[in-house]
Amino acid sequence: MSASAERSSQKLADPTGSSRLFVISGPSGAGKSSVVRLLREKRPFYFSVSATTRDPRPGEIHGVHYWFVDAADFAELIENQELLEWADYNGRRYGTLRTPVLSHLAQGEDVILEIEVQGARQVRNSYPGAVMFFILPPSVVELAQRLERRGDTSPAEITRRLGIAEQEIAEAEGLFDFLVVNEDLDRCVSEVLSFISPPGGGSTRRGRGALY
Ligand code: 5GP
Repeated sequence: MSASAERSSQKLADPTGSSRLFVISGPSGAGKSSVVRLLREKRPFYFSVSATTRDPRPGEIHGVHYWFVDAADFAELIENQELLEWADYNGRRYGTLRTPVLSHLAQGEDVILEIEVQGARQVRNSYPGAVMFFILPPSVVELAQRLERRGDTSPAEITRRLGIAEQEIAEAEGLFDFLVVNEDLDRCVSEVLSFISPPGGGSTRRGRGALY
């Protein structure tokens, strides 16, 4: 382990040593948010609310779905090293606030991040102990249909997101601990949970056991 990775791991240590950092990643439309919502109903996770420069969609609430900030504020977050990871995605910026994540881990809570692949790569490098899941759609056709059904994404944006998705799927191999297909949401969540031992219940099963 490099010196910086070791420092990062130490920063993540909590007094009981039982808290874990989970990453849920995958292409837009794969169902990450639904997976995270159900996981949170079944287990006590602290969910990290990200900062983003994109505009809120109808129904999205500042501080609940995202912290909606302008480009200058986001640049300041980067400058002040307040982001644990961040990425440019589809012309907008998204990032994880470092302090809440570290303080919840330090209190012994499991933390869950829902982020895209560039951010997941940064987490993998900085926090090698993170347990990382990549949620896949059953097919790219199904992914396109899901984005259309969502009704809040323009056709041009769907095309852009599908292009990014293909890139992300190509990059996922080797980066994530577990690849899980979301064909049926409940089954997908059960599969994710099967790789997550209960809080404080011993070590998480690790390994690059791809399911796909
Ligand atoms: P959306 O605009 O659909 O809400 O999000 C676009 C993509 O950015 C999704 O893949 C979402 O998971 C990802 N995302 C959300 N928050 C973060 C974050 O804090 N960091 C990174 N790297 N990606 C994020």
